[in-house]
Amino acid sequence: MDAVISDRAMPGGVDGLELCRRVRAREGDGGGYAYFVFLTALGEKEHLLEGIQAGADHYLTKPLDLDELQVCLISAARVTALHKQLNEQKRLLHEQARKDPLTGLGNRRALHEDLEVLAARARRYGHGYCTALYDVDHFKAYNDRHGHLAGDEVLRGVAHVLAERSRGGDACYRYGGEEFLIVMPEQTLESAWAAVDLVRRAVEDLRLPVGPGEPPGVVTVSAGIAALGPGEHKRVDALLGEADAALYRAKEVGRNRVVARAAESEPPCGAP
Ligand code: GH3
Ligand code: MG
Ligand code: MG
Repeated sequence: MDAVISDRAMPGGVDGLELCRRVRAREGDGGGYAYFVFLTALGEKEHLLEGIQAGADHYLTKPLDLDELQVCLISAARVTALHKQLNEQKRLLHEQARKDPLTGLGNRRALHEDLEVLAARARRYGHGYCTALYDVDHFKAYNDRHGHLAGDEVLRGVAHVLAERSRGGDACYRYGGEEFLIVMPEQTLESAWAAVDLVRRAVEDLRLPVGPGEPPGVVTVSAGIAALGPGEHKRVDALLGEADAALYRAKEVGRNRVVARAAESEPPCGAP
């Protein structure tokens, strides 16, 4: 809806002023800007200020003059086009603020915003979800040998694998440095483990050589998984802490593996 032309007084419950206020309130809820015009009898001119304060943009008087109407609609087209441009810029800025520039994945801000929404939904509807924290193994050594720019390429490669291999409904983020996080709604620990291990194997299959020197081999990742069971209550940071502890365990027991519970290292927390 780009423009509204309304009488001031109307039969029924909602008069013109109230309609105008409701249209403006709808914009606050994310609706686009509507150019609001009051159509009044000449004698109602004293209400002009009241109408403008309610959010109207323009007044037209009865009997309607077609030239005046055309002037009004040209003005409406200009103002609404400007509002659309502003809204688009706002949307792009918001999108940029949530994106990691190196990998194109969601950044930490996006992660925390999304996790809060997911956690609220989980509390309300009793849904469960899993989250996995990945960390590139021996990445400092990779940087030292190949340089920071080549290291950046590795991070892009891992991000690409994550985005490609994750399932519809999963969301991937760069958690920081060489760490990535995936959120998997409606997954059990077992099904999440299989999905996370698939990504681990796909990164290994990129065959990005780390050598020469120690450690030998190709770039790999380790991952730790944490789960929020259906109906279970857990704070977001507690869940992330569990994923981090499981990741720590994966590093401890040899890297290039997925651990689903910090206390265990056997399937479903299996080694490759
Ligand atoms: P581990 O297997 O225990 O995880 O060892 P690691 O060497 O990967 O871990 P460590 O925390 O010692 O090193 C992480 C490295 O990640 C150090 C840092 O320079 C590098 N790093 C973090 N962010 C970036 C980035 O944006 N680009 C590049 N190229 N390197 C980064
Ligand atoms: Mg790390
Ligand atoms: Mg690392």
